[in-house]
Formats: sequence, structure tokens, C-alpha cells
Amino acid sequence: MSKIEAFNFAGKRAIVRVDFNVPLNEKFEITDDTRIRAAVPTIKKILKDGGSAIIMSHLGRPKGKVNPDFSLKHIQAHLAKTIGTDVIFAGDCVGPEVKAKAEALKPGQVLLLENLRFYLEEEGKPKLAEGISDEEAKAAKADMKEKQKVFAQALAALADVYVNDAFGTAHRAHASTAVIADYFAADSKMFGFLIESEVSSLDKVVKSPKRPFTAIMGGAKVSSKITIIENMLDKVDNLILGGGMTFTFMKARGGKIGDSICEDEYLELARELEKKAAAKGVKIYMASDVLAADAFDNNANTKVVSAMEIADGWQGLDAGPESLKLFTEVIKNSSTILWNGPVGVFEMDNFAKGSRAVGEAIVEATKKGAFSLIGGGDSVACVNKFGLADGVSYISTAGGALLEYLEGKELPGIKAIRG
Ligand code: AMP
Repeated sequence: MSKIEAFNFAGKRAIVRVDFNVPLNEKFEITDDTRIRAAVPTIKKILKDGGSAIIMSHLGRPKGKVNPDFSLKHIQAHLAKTIGTDVIFAGDCVGPEVKAKAEALKPGQVLLLENLRFYLEEEGKPKLAEGISDEEAKAAKADMKEKQKVFAQALAALADVYVNDAFGTAHRAHASTAVIADYFAADSKMFGFLIESEVSSLDKVVKSPKRPFTAIMGGAKVSSKITIIENMLDKVDNLILGGGMTFTFMKARGGKIGDSICEDEYLELARELEKKAAAKGVKIYMASDVLAADAFDNNANTKVVSAMEIADGWQGLDAGPESLKLFTEVIKNSSTILWNGPVGVFEMDNFAKGSRAVGEAIVEATKKGAFSLIGGGDSVACVNKFGLADGVSYISTAGGALLEYLEGKELPGIKAIRG
């Protein structure tokens, strides 16, 4: 693979996979253009070098059918404004007309392709008719895999160089995110600036963390975090468990959790995770006291109680003051910090104190030189709500791709380029 910074795009046509899956209102206006702005450095580098850029993305879920509601035409003007250059629209993403438009591109020009997901080949999953046999389904899937290769090859034929800058879809083995890379030589494919910074930030946490390394895992359910917690046990020194999912651990320890959220089918697994942590020398920190409420309501009556002795009719909705003192102390003494999931029902102001305290401690540790990474929709919403975003080292908005990276999985979009 090549490095985008060092690569000279002069005279080259680069096909760039971006994530322009932006929210649109009923008038098809873009309501949040973060993803478009995130792709600007890569596109500008190509144009500045004297190359031309062919931009491709998906938008929504058109499920393999042409649907004007999901047309990338809605993005054309905004993209042009954002990069300060005219953008030519292709009206399709493969075919002779697109090829002609791509070949006619001059240095400095930008061509925006139509939604990749107007073709089932992009995702590579066939629509299976109801009632077909397993054999028929298998054949249809194999047939689609072949069609996906042809589609990826047609995209590849538009350009000299392939750049992937869509980290949000890097966990998918789609035509434009992974398969296409097979049709470029090693020195003609690379990550864009956005993926590069995501991957290098994540690697600071996953591959070479400065110690002590503390992960704070929160959120409603332990079931959605098991694989990450397991993978983190091999890496972290401290694991702070917060939020609703801790009550499954508390109950597994023999605690009385009242009406707190709990997944009874995961009690055994919670015990196993604690045993594994002990065997690996990872310190687990959980709330000793909680702010309990008599209803799941911002205006409910509240009291601070021991996390192991919550009365029936009451539920723990935030970490208590004693727990927060301990959590924030551990965080402030850490050199690498990963935060995924709030430690309370932060959406309700009366139960947001714990998540705010965690965020503030992370900012303080970061000021002292720690590397902090916050990822996963809810923790990002949390730091934004408290205005703390500028104080952390890196915020990842990648969702599924981020979680899979943290789970230790190899992402197809990353592997396709790194090899
Ligand atoms: P997740 O998507 O699994 O990260 O969960 C995030 C959600 O967990 C947020 O909407 C929080 O309100 C919720 N949450 C955090 N702590 C609790 C709690 N103690 N009881 C119920 N829900 C919680």
C-alpha cells in the first residue's frame, strides 16, 4: 500500500470511497454534513497534486433498486461548495457513460458517482425468493459473489488509483470497500486521511497503549459489550464497568438490585468475565453506591444506596458519589483511556452526573498527557452534551467499524489495502 501524504496524484485518476451517508430532511437538504467535511482533506490533496477525483459512496438503504430519494445528486451542490470546486455528476456508478465521463476528467476535476447501493452487487447479497431450497440459496449467493467481482472490477476500471476513506463502512466486505482493492497493484491503493487517523488513533489504544491503560465500559446491556470486554481484558490494566450493565454483575455477585436493569441469562457469563479478569491481573472497578430512583423518570424520587442493596421498587440510574470518587481517581492516574458507553442514564439531567464526572476526569487526564479515545454513539453524544469534546484526544464516530476493531476483528476494508 502507499501512504497518501507521500503519494503524488499528478495526472492520475483516483477513485475514492467516502462515506457520504448523510442525514437528509424531507426537502433533501443535508442536516449534518460532518461526513462530507471529513472527506475534504483527502479530496483536496488529490486535486492539489494535479490529479482528478472520482467520488463514490452509498446513501441510505435503497436495497439494490434505483430510487431518486437516495440519489447522490442531493449531495452534489453541497460537496462542490465544501471543496470549492465544481462537481460533475455521473447519474450511475458503472457503465459506458460513466466510463466516458471518467476518461474525460482533467486534472483538478471531480466526478461524483451515483449511489453504489442502487446495485445489489455493492453489498454482494442476493435477494432470495421465499421458499427456495438451501441449495438454491447457496447457488444464488455464489452467483452474486461473482457478480460482485465484476461490479468491483468495473468501478476499478474507472481509475488509476484507489483510495478508501470510509472508515464507517470498513467492517463490510462490499465491492467498493474491499473487493475493488484486488484490482489495483499494491502501490496504487491507500487509505485516505480520515481512515489513517482513525486507525492510528485506535492503534494507540489497541496495539501500543501507554500504561496504565483504563477502559470505561458503560451502557444499558452487557450482552452488547461482551466481545469488547473480553478483548479488552487482554489489554487493559483497569476496567471500569458502569451504567445499566453493572447490575447483571452485581446480581451475579449475590447483590440485591431491586428493579434495576438486568440480563438474567448473562449472570454466569458475568461471573466468568470477573474470573478471567482476576486471572489476567486486570482490576475491575464497579459502583459501590448508586443513585437509585423509584421510577425511570427524570423527576422520580432518588436516594443514594449501596449498589448491592437496592430495595424493590427502586432502580439504579447513575453511579453514586463514593463510586465516582474512585472512578475519577483511577481515570486521572491513567495514561491511556478508552470510553465506550455512559455510566448512567445521561439523557436525563438528574442521572447525568456520573457520565459528566467521567468525561471531566478524562479531560483532566488528557491535559496531563494521557491519550484518550471516546467512541460509540452514546459516549460521543455524552461528551458533546457536556461540551467536553475538545478536551479529549480522539473521538471516533465510526460505530460498527469501531466496535469491531475494538473487538479485535480484522476489518475487510483495512485488510484489503494493508494486505
Ligand atoms: P448502549 O447503547 O448499550 O451503550 O447503552 C446506552 C444507554 O444506556 C443510554 O441510553 C443510557 O441511558 C442507558 N443506561 C445507562 N445506565 C443505565 C441504567 N443504570 N439503567 C438503565 N439504562 C441505562
